Amino acid sequence: MPALLPGTATLGVLGGGQLGRMFVHAAQALGYRCIVLDPDAISPAGAVAEKHLKADYLDPLGLAQLARDCDAITTEFENVPAVALETLAGMRTVAPAAAAVAVCQDRAVEKAHFQAAGVPCAPHAVIRDEIELAAVDPALLPGILKTSRMGYDGKGQVRVGSREELATAWQDLQRVPCVLEQLLPLRAELSVLVARGADGQLVHYPVQQNLHRGGILAVTEVPAPDVPAEVQARAVAAARQVAEALAYVGVLCIEFFWLEDGRLVVNEMAPRPHNSGHWTMNGADVSQFELQVRALAGLPLPQPRQHSASLMLNLLGDLWFSTAGGPTPPAWDRVLALPGTHLHLYGKSDARHGRKMGHLNITADTPDAAHAVAVQAAALLGLPTDF
Ligand code: ADP
Ligand code: MG
Repeated sequence: MPALLPGTATLGVLGGGQLGRMFVHAAQALGYRCIVLDPDAISPAGAVAEKHLKADYLDPLGLAQLARDCDAITTEFENVPAVALETLAGMRTVAPAAAAVAVCQDRAVEKAHFQAAGVPCAPHAVIRDEIELAAVDPALLPGILKTSRMGYDGKGQVRVGSREELATAWQDLQRVPCVLEQLLPLRAELSVLVARGADGQLVHYPVQQNLHRGGILAVTEVPAPDVPAEVQARAVAAARQVAEALAYVGVLCIEFFWLEDGRLVVNEMAPRPHNSGHWTMNGADVSQFELQVRALAGLPLPQPRQHSASLMLNLLGDLWFSTAGGPTPPAWDRVLALPGTHLHLYGKSDARHGRKMGHLNITADTPDAAHAVAVQAAALLGLPTDF
């Protein structure tokens, strides 16, 4: 298929969240028009696209209109019904493919894919019924019970220490299909973003070191401060293997656990740009969103180059409630007085606890300098400075 040249085509996005918004910004910078399909009348991506189609992801008329008006279509979240992508693929170029997204939608299937690709993941058991529940290997306890589908930001997860707790937790999760994972001693959490074109060309960003708080990403640092080059090379090789095995097209993020004993296991993957890659908007010469645009349009994928030490702080709605009374915006003017700070807000008007409102990128000549500014910014915002 010939490339969709910049300035000549319309790109569609399923989903209207912040990832869609940043995709739209990158696509528009290259001269593409964008159409976002999202059932919600108010959406971060719908607000910046040339057109917002308010339709359900399974509405045949909405999908047909999207296919008619767009030259190629992507998704900004992995829980879009795979059949929507399949329907669109019958009419238009779609990336990533429905089959790849379907693998990412189900933790059990995803883990089977990792194993088939020869990449180790956490010891686990699939629990779909009473028999599988009773057969769980006690060596998996203490563990984390996770719903197979629809989990994100630590939602749909329960830590369990005993068989009794496991049974109760599964009951509390409405006995939906789950995966029980052994609780692993983590030295650090890492992620690797790769981008692969339809022609098989595959590029990647440097390894990202991630700190989560309450199951939600809080801080990403690149280069990964605590991780030896040899471990980083293993993570990149594993990420490439996972993407190749899926014949993946687009940006893919693979999350890893680096364990106390030095082993590296894959945790999960996301078939799209990822929160841990937001630093690329300011710290690399090509952002993860531009790579997603390029992969979708069939343009060349240059190996991205990190030009600045980078650190990202996630900005949750909690920051708006640091003082008594109604929601108040944080003192951005004071934060932006710090050198190398880049604020990205997603245009969400109502701040809520735990809601991703934006992120702050910090770039500098050296990792130490980026870190020092990030600690100052965090202190100004009332965020923990324990990173
Ligand atoms: P989500 O889809 O919500 O991101 P994850 O499976 O990535 O779900 O889990 C969220 C976080 O919980 C991880 O980033 C990690 O901090 C912690 N976690 C998940 N699984 C394990 C595990 N097996 N051992 C230790 N910590 C874990
Ligand atoms: Mg995760």
